[in-house]
Amino acid sequence: MNKMNRIAVLTSGGDSPGMNAALRAVARTCMFNDKECIGVMRGYEGLIDGDFIPLDHQAVGGIIHKGGTILRTARSERFRTPEGREEAIARMKDAGIDGLVVIGGDGSFHGAKALHDLGFPTIGIPGTIDNDITGTDETIGFDTAVNTALEAIMKLRDTASSHQRLFVVEVMGRNAGFLALEVAVATGAEYAVVPELPLSIGNLVKILKNSYSLHKTHTLIVLAEGVMSAAEMREQLADAGGYDARVTVLGYIQRGGHPTSFYVVLANMMGAFAADNLKIGNSGMIVGNINHKLVLSPLERAWSEHKSLSPEMLSLINKMN
Ligand code: ATP
Repeated sequence: MNKMNRIAVLTSGGDSPGMNAALRAVARTCMFNDKECIGVMRGYEGLIDGDFIPLDHQAVGGIIHKGGTILRTARSERFRTPEGREEAIARMKDAGIDGLVVIGGDGSFHGAKALHDLGFPTIGIPGTIDNDITGTDETIGFDTAVNTALEAIMKLRDTASSHQRLFVVEVMGRNAGFLALEVAVATGAEYAVVPELPLSIGNLVKILKNSYSLHKTHTLIVLAEGVMSAAEMREQLADAGGYDARVTVLGYIQRGGHPTSFYVVLANMMGAFAADNLKIGNSGMIVGNINHKLVLSPLERAWSEHKSLSPEMLSLINKMN
């Protein structure tokens, strides 16, 4: 009999739209393979507490399009300690769990790698709106967050145009500019301020002057939270060019909502791929989607290799503003 009889799945770090579709796919694939699936509540916190629920056919019914995660998510300080991780492995062994799928961001993958290094079979699925994981072109949730920001900015644009205003919109993304850049291109923004490129306020002011000379009805700057706050940006624009910018922080709405269709499909594919690969003995890997092909790469790639912004997309902003 295959040793991988019972597989657990957890969601960890910040939630992202599509996590439910991914965990459902893990559970349904286990059932298809005649294996059991166990859900771990509250990420690594629940793992240490043995907070497990059976994920049978019904438990994952009706969740494919729901935002958030039915397993909830948490950040766990206890899991960062060797004692916490040993406790987690003991709880899983007590429950007869043979392998684990971790859906989360790079922090969660550090945890997954620690379990793998302790000999516990573990595979990661990238679930974060930040898209900052090397080893995959897209992380689950990214596209949905872009679309949420796009919708909000289209509404802001209506009022910006009516008053010929300059708007600064701060988007999430932690220390990466993937979300800001994609949102800037998708909204036709005049400028994207991202952590990956040094900000020249002088250059920005030049672009704004040009925008005003073209009699544009509104001007939009998309700012990544990892650079500075929208309020700070507002002050810098006032000091450098006397601009009176209106600022909007999109905040947590970017994490919510139902996933876009592309990402429901991607989450399904990644979830099934993770469960199938655990079954055949793969561990210490993350599932990725590269050039529309599912691949596995070592967990540590997620943080040891830098993922760069697309130069083509960066140059688009300059061409289109
Ligand atoms: P997001 O990108 O959405 O914030 P994330 O997975 O990067 O998601 P983190 O808060 O960084 O979110 O990590 C989630 C959890 O993973 C932490 O609370 C902790 O329990 C665990 N973790 C993070 N780093 C480590 C580490 N070096 N060793 C063990 N566990 C870790």
